[in-house]
Amino acid sequence: ASRLEGVEQAPPDPILGVSEAFKADTSDLKLNLGVGAYRTEELKPYVLNVVKKAERKMIDAGENKEYLPIDGLASFNKATVNLLLGFDHAAVKEGCVATVQSLSGTGSLRVGAQFIQKCIPGKTVYLSNPTWGNHRGIFSSAGVKWEYYRYFDPETVGLDFEGLMEDIKNAPDASIIVLHGCAHNPTGVDPTKEQWKQIADLCVDKNHLPFFDVAYQGFASGSLDEDAYAPRYFVDRGIEIMVAQSYSKNLGLYGERVGALNFILSSSSAAKKVLSQLKQIARAIYSNPPVHGARIVSEVVGNDDMFGEWKQEMEYMAGRIKGVRQELQDHLERINPDKDWSFITKQIGMFSFTGLTPQQVENMTNKHHIYMTKDGRISLAGLSSSKAEYLAKAIDDSVR
Ligand code: PMP
Repeated sequence: ASRLEGVEQAPPDPILGVSEAFKADTSDLKLNLGVGAYRTEELKPYVLNVVKKAERKMIDAGENKEYLPIDGLASFNKATVNLLLGFDHAAVKEGCVATVQSLSGTGSLRVGAQFIQKCIPGKTVYLSNPTWGNHRGIFSSAGVKWEYYRYFDPETVGLDFEGLMEDIKNAPDASIIVLHGCAHNPTGVDPTKEQWKQIADLCVDKNHLPFFDVAYQGFASGSLDEDAYAPRYFVDRGIEIMVAQSYSKNLGLYGERVGALNFILSSSSAAKKVLSQLKQIARAIYSNPPVHGARIVSEVVGNDDMFGEWKQEMEYMAGRIKGVRQELQDHLERINPDKDWSFITKQIGMFSFTGLTPQQVENMTNKHHIYMTKDGRISLAGLSSSKAEYLAKAIDDSVR
């Protein structure tokens, strides 16, 4: 027997485990709405044309595979901050931004969590309830305490703004508040601009440190600027923030693991010290980040034609998702007119939070071969027009 026979079996991941179950299903009807990955109308993975173009350019230029510095590719770091804050922001010129390229959104959050644990210990991180399934694990494995703040009201299928404000107010001063930059996962419900203002006011009053998770910039509305509204607003208010960025969705670089962790601070001396710590943390976990995807981002953003083409492709992807959102709602309103389905087009981004119970989700999967997460979330990026009616019928069957 192995010395490791006593190791406890870990449960499958609540999101990626769904893809494993999907693969094992042999039915022609099967539909994977679990993981948030964009598919074409033919339900095939999509590599953006602009990405292929950048890669061709990189090969022609004979790019090497040398190690990057610990904090990543300098031209990528410059580009990623420009996308986040808008080009040539004063905070950058003043040296108040610390940026490390990291392993997409997840790795950036993890380095951020480790920084909290190491450099500002004893803080509690507040997560929205519900939130993306990996947030808890990321902070827990870095040894950081976390709690929930209220976020979603199932009654209104909207934001529980009063609950949110009350919980953030009752958190100890100088806590860390994780906020989804746009297209909240899994609910698709974001604060309005007026509500962001009130959240910012409260963060100032309470001296909280907001940690923005920006995984969908440009992918929610189709506009990079519009989707960066919240973190930019906080920065313009003079609030210090942390931001994790991901290029998985908006540039379709899922498996390349491209992202960044940024601190936008009010002094350049603090930014310098923070950067030195981030480098030390990254060095011990993965030494330095992968080069290929970072070069793609830097090529695309650095070339006006390619940058324009990216924006068009992003708008196209966001538009296709909005289209199937509408079709799903139309089918449901026709099949089951007694229920209010308007929440589907009110929610934004990649997901719809359907309100299906775990038993209803089981019915979706076991009877209809539709794979989704147990919390009732479906990824509309994995739905095609031609499957919208099938999905609507399955939802109707499951809620009856
Ligand atoms: N944060 C949120 C809210 C997400 O939805 C995701 C992707 N599902 C991520 C972070 C990170 O994804 P990745 O590590 O692929 O960038």
